[in-house]
Amino acid sequence: MYEPVIGLEVHAHLATETKAFCGCANKFGVSPNTLTCPVCLGFPGSLPVFNRKALDYAIKVALALNCRVNNYFKFDRKNYYYPDLPKNYQISQYDLPLSVDGYLDVELESGLKKIRIKRVHMEEDAGKLVHTQSYSLVDYNRSGVPLIEVVTEPDLYSPDEAYCYLMELKEILEYLGVSDCDMEKGSLRCDANVSVRLKGETVLGTKVELKNMNSFKAVKEALAYEIERLSGALSKGEKIIQETRLWDADKSITASMRSKEEAHDYRYFPDPDLVSFTLDKSELDSVKKSLPELPRAKRMRFEKEYALSGYDAGVLTSSRDLAGYFEECLKLYPQPKVLSNWITTELLSYLNEKKISINEMSLTTKALVGLLELLDNKTINRNSAKDVLKIMLDTGKDANAIIKEKNLFEISDDSALDKIAEEVIAQNSQSVADYKSGKENAVMFLVGQVMKKTSGKANPQKVNEIIRSKLK
Ligand code: ADP
Ligand code: MG
Ligand code: ZN
Repeated sequence: MYEPVIGLEVHAHLATETKAFCGCANKFGVSPNTLTCPVCLGFPGSLPVFNRKALDYAIKVALALNCRVNNYFKFDRKNYYYPDLPKNYQISQYDLPLSVDGYLDVELESGLKKIRIKRVHMEEDAGKLVHTQSYSLVDYNRSGVPLIEVVTEPDLYSPDEAYCYLMELKEILEYLGVSDCDMEKGSLRCDANVSVRLKGETVLGTKVELKNMNSFKAVKEALAYEIERLSGALSKGEKIIQETRLWDADKSITASMRSKEEAHDYRYFPDPDLVSFTLDKSELDSVKKSLPELPRAKRMRFEKEYALSGYDAGVLTSSRDLAGYFEECLKLYPQPKVLSNWITTELLSYLNEKKISINEMSLTTKALVGLLELLDNKTINRNSAKDVLKIMLDTGKDANAIIKEKNLFEISDDSALDKIAEEVIAQNSQSVADYKSGKENAVMFLVGQVMKKTSGKANPQKVNEIIRSKLK
């Protein structure tokens, strides 16, 4: 009888060379406090200079999310005191953000849903605190790293919807090439706001903000937990207090961190060190032109143009590089379904097992297509082709060389197969009897025996035919 309402705030690091307001390198995983300067350490008298690339990246995101980009925007100081924030304020955007009023179409099981985007704005990250048993350390390498914040309207009605939205958003950011979106490194973070209300009620309930989820799955779990907790409290007649709660992944619970602060607590005011910006239409247009085809459009085109299933199109477009690889192969070998099968099963399972991406493998499109042609012209059979593919991926060797070296040529000599089939039939009288008494499966056993004797190099279909004709 209660229904949840969810709004998400996603922060993504922009993958620029340098930080948002200084020339320090924007890099992850280097020695603490080696990527710092007076600006990102907040020394008095130092002045920020805004990173043009960060602006371009942020505009790309805003446009991809169908937002209206303001032609006039500014930066504001969000004031609070914390050891990871040496200036005692974060440069962010308050009342004149980069962009507002967008939407993202998300495919749910129930169909397509438009999730409204309230705003996409720019800000800088704080440093990182590393806590030990008895003291805490601070690393300012992350201080001043450019971020975008993408805020939805409260349009999501279940943890699953939130999850689908996040997956779609992440794919878009990856396609745009503006962020590596690695939640483990903290380059993508999601705060989830959730409230519950009686079904049919139109007014929103009091919301709780959830933090500290380090995967999309954790976002889903935290939301599910919180929805239960809020519904339980309401049904007992308790009053919900607006607060920020932290997800504890070990215990699978949320716990109160602080009662929610209000915007006025931050004493926002325009940053006097940064001038306001105007964007003219031509700048906006040129970024617009540079946008790649986005994931959903590509998915739909793949389904239509190549007659692929929604599932296959989804897998192939899950990364822009994978989709690109597929389409490159297609130019050489215009059989979408065959290519899709090999790429989504054999190739991807290899890459997943080795935990590498499509860019990190050495198999060229030409090499993969060459292998498929050897299969088509019956130089090798399907099983051998799978083995050869693995060896190609492992060693970078050419398919022909591997086939020769391992002598994997398909046995095309019918009389040889005939002889082996006869042997197998003679040696397995029980299976033959089984088959004759109606056990269809017995044939498969006999085929298997022939395949074994040929070290898997026969064409299983052909063997099947031979055996059947002999058993007639
Ligand atoms: P705040 O000023 O507290 O940050 P915002 O209005 O900026 O609040 O909203 C932050 C996020 O919380 C947005 O994603 C918004 O959709 C969501 N949100 C706001 N009110 C509610 C509510 N009552 N229930 C669920 N989500 C909400
Ligand atoms: Mg907010
Ligand atoms: Zn710096």
